[in-house]
Amino acid sequence: MATSSPEKNGKAYEYVDHAYDVVVVGAGGAGLRATLGMAEQGFKTACITKVFPTRSHTVAAQGGIAASLQNMTPDSWQWHLYDTVKGSDWLGDVDAMQYMVMEAPKAVYELEHYGVPFSRNEEGKIYQRPFGGHMQNFGDGPPVQRTCAAADRTGHAILHTLYGQSLRNNAEFFIEFFALDLIMSDDGVCTGVVAWNLDDGTIHRFSAKMVVLATGGYGRTYFSATSAHTCTGDGAGMIARAGLPLQDMEFVQFHPTGIYGAGCLITEGARGEGGYLTNSEGERFMERYAPSAKDLASRDVVSRCMTMEIREGRGVGKNRDHIFLHLDHLDPAILAERLPGISESAKIFAGVDVTREPIPVLPTVHYNMGGIPTNYWGEVLNADSENPERVAPGLMAVGEAGCASVHGANRLGSNSLIDLVVFGRAAAIRAGQVIDRESPIPALNTAACDKIMERFDRIRHADGSKPTAVLRDKMQRAMQEDAAVFRTQETLEQGCQRISAIWGELPDVKVTDRSMIWNSDLVETLELHNLMACAITTVYGAEARKESRGAHAREDYAEGPFAGRDDENWRKHTLSWVSEAGEVKLDYRPVHQDLIADGIDIKKIAPKARVY
Ligand SMILES: Cc1cc2nc3c(=O)[nH]c(=O)nc-3n(C[C@H](O)[C@H](O)[C@H](O)COP(=O)(O)OP(=O)(O)OC[C@H]3O[C@@H](n4cnc5c(N)ncnc54)[C@H](O)[C@@H]3O)c2cc1C
Repeated sequence: MATSSPEKNGKAYEYVDHAYDVVVVGAGGAGLRATLGMAEQGFKTACITKVFPTRSHTVAAQGGIAASLQNMTPDSWQWHLYDTVKGSDWLGDVDAMQYMVMEAPKAVYELEHYGVPFSRNEEGKIYQRPFGGHMQNFGDGPPVQRTCAAADRTGHAILHTLYGQSLRNNAEFFIEFFALDLIMSDDGVCTGVVAWNLDDGTIHRFSAKMVVLATGGYGRTYFSATSAHTCTGDGAGMIARAGLPLQDMEFVQFHPTGIYGAGCLITEGARGEGGYLTNSEGERFMERYAPSAKDLASRDVVSRCMTMEIREGRGVGKNRDHIFLHLDHLDPAILAERLPGISESAKIFAGVDVTREPIPVLPTVHYNMGGIPTNYWGEVLNADSENPERVAPGLMAVGEAGCASVHGANRLGSNSLIDLVVFGRAAAIRAGQVIDRESPIPALNTAACDKIMERFDRIRHADGSKPTAVLRDKMQRAMQEDAAVFRTQETLEQGCQRISAIWGELPDVKVTDRSMIWNSDLVETLELHNLMACAITTVYGAEARKESRGAHAREDYAEGPFAGRDDENWRKHTLSWVSEAGEVKLDYRPVHQDLIADGIDIKKIAPKARVY
């Protein structure tokens, strides 16, 4: 253990230095699948995580994981590709989407062999349920049963299995370690990461040939979100501070069925099993908006329809401000078998017995399509319009933190869990190709580490007038009000102003606890800085994008054959940088439109109007 000191306010920080081939930051589904893949190849692999691995947000994934296994209905990767392209509103990268849907069955069978206890159909094969936006026959329907499930605890099952397998392959875990920042060389190579051990207050400097960010999403930029309180965009914050771009941050998914008030999720699997939505007139209104897919239209569409029903005075409840989800017509035995978790959630958080009464629900922030730009091998891109494919050496990003981009402007349900395992696996395959096993692990860049610790020390001793919770609340309310399901120029401009003003208040934050051990006040303040990098790039990216596409629905751009989507000018990815002073810079890069393998006529997935 070494001690050295950028610390001005007390005793020196205690350093512990490590050298690994690969360091993975994050132990959700993506981080664990990457960790396992790295360790299986004999790489000396560390996995750093701020929460215990099986408490990562992936544990809450209920509905399932998409792969065209054909266990219940006819299916093919071509149909899965079509649905994913259409779901993305033609913003996803075709190469990445094709890679995902073609690799999906393999990745699911691998999970099965690793030990995931999937539910079974009568033939003993993996059970698959219908999910929103997943159809047979290139979108013509009927719905396909593509979503593989372990009851309504699929994420839980996957996470426990992958953690066990990673341990079995000798991956080393650094649990309840908070990663602070990437160690970058002067010429832009990532050579490691600095982390704070929350339990004993030591600072750990990891040198590595490859760092993989798998830190999850940033749902907590909003007031009401289905995601865990730990989903604070820490990877995106680290990327922004390293001077690298973020991509498509303006695309934030609202899930149609968050429990009213509590915000926690009722899986789309509930509608997959036959649940439906009604307004105050008892009408199944989705039949009016999406005659073919109805309640199983994609999420952005259902969320907008619910919002319109509420606005037009047909919401339910005392304030007519939410919608009902009915499961009470379903066989209680099926509910108990296939949706036990959500029956419990409805009881606890809404006081509702799902076998008798409808569940009060409301669109709630659920998923971030944007994130750290990567190619479909998980390599991070230091991209701009002139170098749209430039790789940032030594750095990968996978899972919800990354943006490959397979979800484009809107993600289909059950396409995230498959994204986690396909790209966690792809990152490991790629690392096997690009890591030079003979070369030494990079030496510790102590100057870069000192800078990281200076920032840490400054925030730890921040003695302004604004408690972290106050600033966070302001940010969450601004995002909820100004970057919502529907957006206009006016709300977005206001959002930019509000978030910029809060950025200006960050130096005036007050941290009351100065200790190094389990200092949750300091953790939350570091998280707030990361959230703010996400919030500011979200609103500025959204303000600049003068069209409607997927989850980015602008009321001032809603006309025309594609309902406001402007492929000529806006079928491109947003890139955004934010400086320490809070200045946002935007640039764009093209959407990848080429296939990587035969088997489908490219014309099948050409842009057209998106109707369900
Ligand atoms: C309630 C809910 C239900 C869902 N259901 C489904 C579903 O049925 N099907 C589907 O496909 N998708 C579903 N999703 C989406 C999907 O679950 C998530 O997108 C996915 O689990 C994200 O996984 P991840 O591995 O990227 O990150 P996470 O699981 O969020 O894990 C992030 C990891 O990063 C670590 N970390 C973060 N910051 C730091 C830091 N600074 N230092 C150290 N470690 C850090 C955390 O400790 C954690 O281990 C659901 C999401 C929610 C919220």
